[in-house]
Amino acid sequence: MNQVLQDLLILQERDSKIFHAKEDLEKIPLEAAKIKEALGNKIKTLEQAKANYMSAESAVKQVDLDRQVRKETITKLKMRQGETKRNEEYQMLEHEVIRYGKEIDELETKELELMEQVDQRKLERVAANQAVLDEKEFATQLSKQLVERKKNAELKITELQKERETLIAKIDDEARSLYERILSRREVDAVVLITPSGQCKGCNMKLPPATLHRVISDSALVQCTECSRILYNA
Ligand SMILES: [Zn+2]
Repeated sequence: MNQVLQDLLILQERDSKIFHAKEDLEKIPLEAAKIKEALGNKIKTLEQAKANYMSAESAVKQVDLDRQVRKETITKLKMRQGETKRNEEYQMLEHEVIRYGKEIDELETKELELMEQVDQRKLERVAANQAVLDEKEFATQLSKQLVERKKNAELKITELQKERETLIAKIDDEARSLYERILSRREVDAVVLITPSGQCKGCNMKLPPATLHRVISDSALVQCTECSRILYNA
């Protein structure tokens, strides 16, 4: 293989590494945003669990209060019963006492149910809180890894670019500008192999016999007639 092609292939190998390192670098802020979003969701779940717990607790308090009010009413009704001399009023008050008594029974049943709900909401709140703690720890570790990855990628790019400068200095201007022109359009793979059956590996087109012959003879840089990539034979 001629020297220019060899140099271009080495250059291309470095450029490909630079390309992938830059690609990795671009992914880092997106990954950091995902971590933040996941933690945000866990915190939202916890806030909801706290609110659910508080509302369950206040429902119990409300029922308890309702029960107390009825108890006090019964006490007052019984006092009036003790004071009245009229049988009709006594019976009416007795009827009320029984009615409030039934309501108290119902409220007690309801309070027990609500207290079970409080226990359930408490468990959910504890679990949501633990999930936030776990996610925070996970996010901290992942963030550290991302910082490290960013640093490494930047270092790698700097090193590769230095190597690139050295390589480029050895390649003549014409070959280099051709290579860079193709690379600017294709991002990667400006120099490609031909297949044993005479196709360009960049665009898969079958090469005309004259082009194929020039590639095999390896005397100068030959471009694919279809995609303009520089061709070489293994
Ligand atoms: Zn091609």
